[in-house]
Amino acid sequence: MRIIFTISILLFSTTLLLSQNNKLITFFEKSNYLETPRYDSTIAFCKALAKSSPLIHYSSFGVSPEGRELPLLIADKDHISDVSLLKNSGRTILFIQACIHAGEPDGKDAGFMLFRDFVTDKNITKYLENVSVVFIPIFNVDGHERWSAYNRINQNGPTEMGWRTNANNLNLNRDYIKAEAPETKAWIGLFNKLDPDFFIDCHVTDGADYIYPITYGIEINGNMDSNITKWQRNIYLPEITSSMEKANYPIFHYVSFREWHNIESGLESWVTAPMLSNGYTAMVNCPGLLIESHMLKDYKTRVFATYKMLEYTLQILNDTGKELKKYKKEADLYSSSDEFRKKPFPLEFNFTKDSTMVEFKGMEYTQEKSDLTGGKWFKFGKTIKNYKLPYFNNIKPITFADLPKYYVVPKQWAFIEDLLIIHNIKYTKTKNDTAINVKTYIFNNVQFGATPYEGRQRVSSFEIDTTTIKMELAKGSILVPVNQAKSRLIAHIFEPMSDASLLKFGYFNTIFEQKEYGESYVLEPLAREMLKDPKIKEAYETEVKNNSNYPKDPDAILNWFYSHSQYKDIQQNIYPIGKIF
Ligand SMILES: [Zn+2]
Repeated sequence: MRIIFTISILLFSTTLLLSQNNKLITFFEKSNYLETPRYDSTIAFCKALAKSSPLIHYSSFGVSPEGRELPLLIADKDHISDVSLLKNSGRTILFIQACIHAGEPDGKDAGFMLFRDFVTDKNITKYLENVSVVFIPIFNVDGHERWSAYNRINQNGPTEMGWRTNANNLNLNRDYIKAEAPETKAWIGLFNKLDPDFFIDCHVTDGADYIYPITYGIEINGNMDSNITKWQRNIYLPEITSSMEKANYPIFHYVSFREWHNIESGLESWVTAPMLSNGYTAMVNCPGLLIESHMLKDYKTRVFATYKMLEYTLQILNDTGKELKKYKKEADLYSSSDEFRKKPFPLEFNFTKDSTMVEFKGMEYTQEKSDLTGGKWFKFGKTIKNYKLPYFNNIKPITFADLPKYYVVPKQWAFIEDLLIIHNIKYTKTKNDTAINVKTYIFNNVQFGATPYEGRQRVSSFEIDTTTIKMELAKGSILVPVNQAKSRLIAHIFEPMSDASLLKFGYFNTIFEQKEYGESYVLEPLAREMLKDPKIKEAYETEVKNNSNYPKDPDAILNWFYSHSQYKDIQQNIYPIGKIF
């Protein structure tokens, strides 16, 4: 009787476990590793995970332009469900994001298996000893529901997938500084509450064929705090590379050839760009990893390889997270210091002519001349080829800025205050109308992008010089002290030479417009009068010599005299943001 009773209890509990586990089999696994779930099914799985174990908590961190909630999962051994309280636990916080490009869903399906294994597999749950994991399964939720089999032309599965950009056709992975999309604003709010110790953004690449199921981007070239960089270069990178190799998922640095598609031209490295997710986190002293699974590998291989990258990262953080947290804390202090501020701050980088030879396991290819286009195209074969290639990974800064004590934002540029609030940058406001001497920039020969970029007219190039002006500041103007943990981010927002700057993104384009013009009946006699001044005469003659449009363009000639007269607009081409040293 007793035996029968025990057996029936066993049977009952096994059935319960099976049905429970069945609910926790991911959509991807049930589809024979061919498909990825839609938004509704994703949310349902998040809720099922949270219901299955107190280790997992589900919530949302914002709402998309089409009204969808932005999903968030937390795995924490003490069942902490409030992101702002996670930091208090002292554990290392790993922040994983998937589907910023919703056509690249590998991270969603890998992350779901990982979170399921937190519930069901002790070998994975053990990593939660020293680490809490926060996971966004779909960041670009609206793009995700622009669902089709034809959204990723170069990519081998899943069967159907979402779209790259959000519902306003903005690429969220170019929006980290200007923070225009509601999704980006919500993300930065979450990031600031969370203050994670390591960030992972999951993508699928395009490009050439090679054996590596995963390539990665990681900041080790000088665009981040030096101690955090050392941890990434000396601790994280060797460990993850060797673990992935042992698991038969060899990895390689993001593949970028010096000449597009020309393998023999060699590989080049770069620094992370602050307008991208892991460039942004680098600017605020959070190390990060870009995972790019290889588009030509089948979906199962890509998701499992992504899973292994997440698992081994967890393992490394579980072992060495304490050390990393210490470096992060020190980095926040250092980037707030006078010592940091007084060093020239690098804004642009380039690789030097130095290279090291590396082994690259690519595929054999032939180059064919197209009878359709007349151009050349590459045809990759099935045979692996071991290349020895020069790797141009000696990156040096080429443009620097002198960081001031304060950036000064006149009251009328009010949108910047909203941006400072989003980025959680500290500032104060002036209490009275005032006028102060500030250093700023004067621009010349400004060129603009011919097509929109992220919906904006970018400033593509300019000549720049420094100048000192008396700046009129209405009461309520903004002073942004550079001595704060986010000093690098502040520099990239305000320094025009940064590719991520508000100026390059076209937010100050009105300063380049000429708003007043002289009539010819005024300028003709004025020009003759002005030419009596030998200095003006010499300047004009130099201009005529250097400008091939003269004398074909009478209006331009007259406008030259306008812009050298007392009537000229003294604010035109002057950067309206001041610097106080
Ligand atoms: Zn991507």
